[in-house]
Amino acid sequence: MKKQTYIKFAHDISNWYRANKRDLPFRKTNDPYKIFLSEMMLQQTQVQTMLPYYARFIERFPTINDLASATEDDVLTMWQGLGYYRRAKFIHQAAIAVRDQHNGVFPSDLKSIKALKGVGDYTAGAIHSIAFNQPTPAIDGNVMRVMSRVLGIYDPINNTETVRSVKQLVGKMILLENPSDFTQALMELGALVCKQTPVCEVCPVQAKCFAYKHSAQSTLPVKEKLAPKTEHHFITFLVTYKDKVLLQRNPADGLLANMLACPQFEVDTFDEALTLFKHRYSFDVKNIKYVSQIKHVFTHRVWYMHIYQMDATDLNASFYAIDALPHAISRAHQKVLHSYKK
Ligand code: SF4
Repeated sequence: MKKQTYIKFAHDISNWYRANKRDLPFRKTNDPYKIFLSEMMLQQTQVQTMLPYYARFIERFPTINDLASATEDDVLTMWQGLGYYRRAKFIHQAAIAVRDQHNGVFPSDLKSIKALKGVGDYTAGAIHSIAFNQPTPAIDGNVMRVMSRVLGIYDPINNTETVRSVKQLVGKMILLENPSDFTQALMELGALVCKQTPVCEVCPVQAKCFAYKHSAQSTLPVKEKLAPKTEHHFITFLVTYKDKVLLQRNPADGLLANMLACPQFEVDTFDEALTLFKHRYSFDVKNIKYVSQIKHVFTHRVWYMHIYQMDATDLNASFYAIDALPHAISRAHQKVLHSYKK
């Protein structure tokens, strides 16, 4: 891209953004805590889905110090249903770090922002540019899609080298405009106009766009094929005692760490699972019946949960009242609990 062209591109999208930005709470603030929270919530999540969570979060934890003072269970409960629970743990740990290492003031230097738990290159760039108005590019899949179409980049956009070269160019553009507006302009252009199916008729950079000129909107961007998701089959136990259900806490590491879940075993038959269950729990079970199979899709894996419901012959501390489950339960296990039949 020639210098004159990218100067005009940066200028045009910034002006377009100022006139067309959506009425979103995190587009009207430069509070780094709120920008941080919104960016973490928006990872893997649609805006419309995250908005009510964002509002409830800000109401419950108005400042980063309020968030730091909460328990992890409180934070997970507020996050319940939003998925990808590691993000909830990360924002909590980041809040604690801001309180303990930065006197409760969100750090403004890029190195300290990047050191916060869960903050990668993109999120750090978003916070640094939007909240602190610093010329740091924030490159995610949406920005890569826009740039690959505008510039006619046929290298895979999920390749590190391609990302690096786009980041260099965006780094030059952001110097020419208000960094906060420019970063949000690229985000909004990707979200509203240059979507998977682009709306080129209303695009502010149509005249300079390679994909528009060559009718290449559907062939760009190019992506390298990722490894297929792995499939896992579980025998899942929905064990009740009167109006209570058995839940166990997951280990502190790994998928759905620390969350409550129905016991389940990755084995082929119910009998194998029952043997493992009896090794783990001191009580027996009766009235065993097959309920259904549930599929739950994660980023890199698919779970098939074959659910068996049964009654426990005794009670222990791991049973929770079904009508008032107090802790964070992953969406996969919420589905299991919804299959409960009286
Ligand atoms: Fe995307 Fe179309 Fe705009 Fe090009 S003209 S940037 S393809 S919306």
